Amino acid sequence: MAAPPMVRLKQVSKIYHKRPQPIPALQGVTLEIHRAEFVAVVGPSGCGKSTLLHLMAGIDRSTSGEVWFEDHLLSTMRETGLTRLRREKVGIVYQLYNLLPHLTLWENVALPLLLAGSPADDIRTRVAEVVKALDLTERTDHWPHQLSGGEMQRAAVARAVITRPSLILADEPTGNLDSKAGEAVLRLLRTLNQEGGFTVVLATHSQEAAAFADRVLRLRDGRILE
Ligand code: ADP
Ligand code: MG
Repeated sequence: MAAPPMVRLKQVSKIYHKRPQPIPALQGVTLEIHRAEFVAVVGPSGCGKSTLLHLMAGIDRSTSGEVWFEDHLLSTMRETGLTRLRREKVGIVYQLYNLLPHLTLWENVALPLLLAGSPADDIRTRVAEVVKALDLTERTDHWPHQLSGGEMQRAAVARAVITRPSLILADEPTGNLDSKAGEAVLRLLRTLNQEGGFTVVLATHSQEAAAFADRVLRLRDGRILE
């Protein structure tokens, strides 16, 4: 039997209940993301990209429909199970890096392993390996404010992959970078996908960024265009 998809959505809708009227952020979305794929979700601001990524990660719950992560139906899972799944299987990279300002680059990257209680020797080895791969070895003792935007984003990618998650979600990861630094981050995601076998879902409004993916899903007003 073929391996099940990494992520599967069936007729998923997400409505934010707001006054004066509800906001339908996603409407009837059906899709599959396969293992080791690099998929771009492309569409203008407000079309539902971040909402879609948050549902895949179990950060938020759908209003209706089914969201599957491997063989877990996320809508029926309790918060504790979702938290564990996120911690163990999902790495997330945001536009604004979200590095902790009072931790060094090394500490920021090591954080997920420190929180998981990994042995100190393992942590040192893994962080050294990842910062080397991301060309950050010279920067490990720096504070976030001493880094360039590109370096901060590479550090955020390092932190996202340090636990070797099954799925990397990147939400507009180049939105705050100049084109050279942005391209470096996209190439890095591509390399992690091709050489590391990571599954990557990239949300972006940029056609150029989407060109790094194997497959593009176009999203408009909460619906997938065919
Ligand atoms: P994108 O990431 O493509 O810009 P979002 O998923 O952030 O789109 O937003 C989709 C729609 O849902 C937008 O209309 C946005 O204003 C709305 N939305 C997103 N998050 C919330 C929220 N927490 N509460 C209310 N409305 C939201
Ligand atoms: Mg967004």
